[in-house]
Amino acid sequence: MLSKPLVLYNSLSGKKEEFKPLKKNHLGIYVCGPTVYSNVHLGNCRTFISFDIIYRYFMHKGYKVRYVRNITDVGHLEDDGQDRINKKAKLEKLEPMEVSNKYTNDFKDTLKEFNVLPPSIEPLASGHIIEQIEIIKKIIDNGFAYESNGSIYFDLDEFRKEYKYGKLSGREIDELISNTRELTSQDDKRKPYDFALWKKADSKHLMKWTSPWGIGFPGWHIECTTMSHKYLGEKFDIHGGGIDLKFPHHECEIAQSDALSKNHSVNYWMHTNMLTLNNKKMSKSTGNNILPKDLISGKNKVFKNAYSSNIIRFFFLQAHYRNVLDISEEALKASEKGFNKIVDASEKLESLKENKSPESNYDIEGWINKCYDCMNDDFNTPKLIAEIFTVIKLINKVHDGKESINSKKIKLLKNIFPVFISEILGLKIDKDDSSDSDALLDVIIRIRDEARKNKDYKTSDIIRNRLSKIGYNINDND
Ligand code: AMP
Ligand code: ZN
Repeated sequence: MLSKPLVLYNSLSGKKEEFKPLKKNHLGIYVCGPTVYSNVHLGNCRTFISFDIIYRYFMHKGYKVRYVRNITDVGHLEDDGQDRINKKAKLEKLEPMEVSNKYTNDFKDTLKEFNVLPPSIEPLASGHIIEQIEIIKKIIDNGFAYESNGSIYFDLDEFRKEYKYGKLSGREIDELISNTRELTSQDDKRKPYDFALWKKADSKHLMKWTSPWGIGFPGWHIECTTMSHKYLGEKFDIHGGGIDLKFPHHECEIAQSDALSKNHSVNYWMHTNMLTLNNKKMSKSTGNNILPKDLISGKNKVFKNAYSSNIIRFFFLQAHYRNVLDISEEALKASEKGFNKIVDASEKLESLKENKSPESNYDIEGWINKCYDCMNDDFNTPKLIAEIFTVIKLINKVHDGKESINSKKIKLLKNIFPVFISEILGLKIDKDDSSDSDALLDVIIRIRDEARKNKDYKTSDIIRNRLSKIGYNINDND
């Protein structure tokens, strides 16, 4: 039995489509990266973990992948028209580069903690100003942008004479007016829905560069068009991001590409759905968010317990990337139980042997194909996890001597189980995989549990208080 071909949901067509690469066994993928003006929150992590699964799976299938994920360190404006990093730098009296470096480091450290693989290229918007200016010049030459008072705007009326705007989201340009992040300087534009490719900088603006149009800085949408084309070419396979970027960011990227030439295209657009807290989108700007380190250390105001990065990653993967996921203590606890079952089964598998009980007729090869079918069906990790739990039942039965499987099947299971768990889902199971500090913490907590069992509350309290001082909270009520 062969597994099915890989299909993925293309936001552009609104359908699942078989994946056909532009070049055999090669994949070019661009994912919009973070805006580095504050700490990355769990919602952001969910999106980057979803793309990590996609990256891992393509590599597992033998693709040579070039994965480009940018860092937005300039040009992402707030509703009041201010650049987010510029604003933060002024507020904290820091160099903008200090702000972006601080939060880029936080972003990279956090993703490493979640076992997210680094992309092949991680370009900075501020490192590609010359390229962005060149792209803007081409769009002006093609007649789809105009200069106004030192800023350059994309001319949507002109564009719509030749192309359709709204291919991806189905939304109309009028919505750009209410969504525009440049409300303060609408006066310069011919039409309120025109969006900025380059903005004139005033004397107080910190991040600015010389351009043919005077001193200014690039718009947000143009950086992704520039960097994706620079590193992946005019045509590439997949462009991804969170669903909140579909409009207007990705819609404007498509318009910019069309405005460059008819040769520019992305074959598949992929969008991940949102992580919510109390059924509201987790977001930096509203404050409805949790920082990963606060959940991992148990030092947050929302949840009582601490959850390891592995459990949080597993919790994310139990939902399909296109579905909304609400985070709650109950759901995290359930994931902790599920994850522990996987760890337990992995340990049992290591020493699994044939026994004298009746032989199980479980079809391991059929099970492997089913697992691949789950991943080939638009990276359906919750279905894959459900399949993994069916084989865990078998592992437990064989381990307890209630059933047996022959040594050939045991060998097959031993080989494939870590492939799905560690290589594809990116979960860290082996004790050796966890960091030294995790292992040490584990030892300390066990010693404390032992002290409590022996009613040595003096020792257990000392350990709890000392751990709490360095950010690890233990709750004995659970
Ligand atoms: P930002 O730094 O705001 O540009 O966001 C970085 C990435 O995180 C983008 O792809 C967003 O779509 C994504 N993102 C933001 N909030 C959430 C959320 N609550 N759930 C999932 N992804 C999110
Ligand atoms: Zn982008």
